Amino acid sequence: MVAASIDWKIRVLQDPSQPRATVDGKKVLVLCSNNYLGLSNHPRLRQAAIDAVNARGAGSGSVRAIAGTMDLHAALEKKIASFKHTEAALYYQTGFAANAGLIPQLVGEGDTVISDELNHGSIIDGVRLCKAERAIFKHANPSDLERVLNELDARPTPPRRILILTDGVFSMDGDIAPLKEITGLAEAHGAMVYVDDAHGDGVLGEKGRGIVNHFGLEGRVHVDMGTFSKAFGVVGGSIAGSRDLVNFALNKSRTWLLSGSAPPATVAACIAALEVLETEPEHLARLWENTRYFKKELQSLGFDTGISQTPITPVIVGESSKAKALSELLFEQGVFALPIVFPMVAKDKARIRTMMNAELSREDLTVALGAFEKAGKQLAII
Ligand code: PMP
Repeated sequence: MVAASIDWKIRVLQDPSQPRATVDGKKVLVLCSNNYLGLSNHPRLRQAAIDAVNARGAGSGSVRAIAGTMDLHAALEKKIASFKHTEAALYYQTGFAANAGLIPQLVGEGDTVISDELNHGSIIDGVRLCKAERAIFKHANPSDLERVLNELDARPTPPRRILILTDGVFSMDGDIAPLKEITGLAEAHGAMVYVDDAHGDGVLGEKGRGIVNHFGLEGRVHVDMGTFSKAFGVVGGSIAGSRDLVNFALNKSRTWLLSGSAPPATVAACIAALEVLETEPEHLARLWENTRYFKKELQSLGFDTGISQTPITPVIVGESSKAKALSELLFEQGVFALPIVFPMVAKDKARIRTMMNAELSREDLTVALGAFEKAGKQLAII
């Protein structure tokens, strides 16, 4: 991998996760953090973490199912359910642990799982762990999903259970899943719907409640899975849904049952993040304002920002070498934005993936756009 120059270049952050930070010893503008709302550094989250360490210590001492469920974990789950308008919720150590732990338990032999072809790796690994038959539908394409469902229905022995899996917001292109159509089809065919809203939590819907709220589908999606590692600014995974779902998940997910629970500081900061979202709408408003402005300006410079509908804004340049060169030139000018290359995206669709952030000022965006313009002209992209 190293010889073929496809190894990942790990840059080191020497400041908190914030728009102007020191990376590899250089002061840069950070355009590739998932800390969309800047909550990682919000005073309420910082203070909640400090208070929790003082009150409950550094670690939880156990897995959730033995002695590692603190009152804080229970309070967070209550808060998630209320934020998501569901009966119940379950908090996992990470979003990856939620997908890898729950998906293989929801379906098994005699069942079929149908997955969008561009779903996240943690869904793919969850599917790999399950004994169900697997089918794929074309990316964000309800007609193709319907074709698969019709084929399954037409069998002499249709599957016992069908589980449809989709990302809410796709992390490479920033497009939004057609969840309304997917849910309608699932209802018509008696299938379950599981949405991974890692990039929609805190970003879409009223007060950042996510994709289910965005499309008005509350009560119709079986598993609303999310993460606290992006817009919520902390770490951890969640599922929201019925009480039965949560009871099933906590009894069956091996990642939840057999791995230590999140420490008090983390859980308290997650609670504070949800409180901030409920009470301070300005962060979300600024995120979307920056998103609209930056996307429009990139496009008017002549860049291809693809099909993005969210703060994930790709700048598609073609070959991998060009994306890597653009990223290097941007870094030289003090702008940190990572290239995404084959095999993560198609060979001719390499890109710089920028993520907008509520904490970026108009001046920051002007500097970033200036750097894109200069480097883009130098590489004959625009
Ligand atoms: N699903 C999607 C779509 C993601 O982008 C990510 C994070 N890369 C995850 C799941 C995993 O979330 P976590 O960071 O909480 O493990």
